Amino acid sequence: MNKQNNQTAKKRLDIIPIEEWPIYRQRPLVIAGPCSAESEAQVMKTAEVLAASGRVDLYRAGIWKPRTRPDQFEGVGSVGLAWLRRVRDELGLPVSVEVANEKHVYEALKHGVDAVWIGARTSVNPFALQEIANALKGADVMVFVKNPINPDLELWIGAIERISKAGIKRLAAIHRGFSSWEKSSFRNQPRWQIPVQLRQRIPNMGLICDPSHIGGDRAFIGDLSQKAMDLNYDGLMIETHIDPSVALSDKKQQVTPSELIAILDTLILRSPTTDNPEFLETIEDLRSQIDVYDNLLLDILESRMQLAETIGKFKKEHNITILQSSRWKEVVGNAVDKGVRKGLTPEFIHTILEAIHQESITHQMKVMKED
Ligand code: PEP
Ligand code: MN
Repeated sequence: MNKQNNQTAKKRLDIIPIEEWPIYRQRPLVIAGPCSAESEAQVMKTAEVLAASGRVDLYRAGIWKPRTRPDQFEGVGSVGLAWLRRVRDELGLPVSVEVANEKHVYEALKHGVDAVWIGARTSVNPFALQEIANALKGADVMVFVKNPINPDLELWIGAIERISKAGIKRLAAIHRGFSSWEKSSFRNQPRWQIPVQLRQRIPNMGLICDPSHIGGDRAFIGDLSQKAMDLNYDGLMIETHIDPSVALSDKKQQVTPSELIAILDTLILRSPTTDNPEFLETIEDLRSQIDVYDNLLLDILESRMQLAETIGKFKKEHNITILQSSRWKEVVGNAVDKGVRKGLTPEFIHTILEAIHQESITHQMKVMKED
């Protein structure tokens, strides 16, 4: 067993695969409903249309809303739980709410919710997570853990482990993007590699994408949902409101029930594997070509770093500092221009050069320290 498998095995949590949950019918599992429960009529009308469509597996509605600034709508509170109970009892649609502390958990469980989710502002906080985990101990409820706001995989895993240790076996993760100071058309940067790594670390756990909170605008939801399906996510959480134009929170990113159905109808579901021999042979051939290029890249990086060490020695002999930022700006500028002409995105070139530069500095520092 290699090191990676070893680590995975050690981390294997006692989780029931999402395909075996009673609410799961097919991929994608669909969680839909308004950002916030606003009134009994809004909760019921939205739920009636969604239930009648037969396309939704779990209804969502925020009762306690974490808001960026005070004096914004902070949710209707516990009264909304009675409305959700009506959704469940009268329409037969399982229901879920967000919980952020012990009191929320007790209230939600008391009202018989089927599932709870832990929001991005809560999963950053191990104290809050532990409090929620303790309150959930022994409960028969599905739990979804959203990624923490900051792109920290270990923090996300830690939050999941705390809930798992409380004995929750129907446990899944929700990817809702990460906050960033970088300008982007999305509200939250997806950083798809982080949930992909989460899957490698906890392979038996379901993964849901929340394109509403990633995109921040309903215009992006279709494409983001397709991307999630192409990455083999198990489900989608899409904020759906009977009339988004009057929503009290996250107005821009909510869709109507008919828009939700249109999005689901356009999704193309590709299967993760096949036993078609022709396909397998071709893919194997293409993958071995990829391996050749990846090995070449490593060889090139090795030579690149050897050169950095030579330069480091040379700078040391002449008492010159390692960093010359004007030179680096020129390198990046030229590479971006060249790379874009080759069909690479500027973001990719920045990321890769940044990493190479950092590694180069590490090698030069090593040389500088040697006597
Ligand atoms: C939500 O789902 O409405 C919500 C507040 O989400 P997040 O924690 O992802 O911001
Ligand atoms: Mn929301």
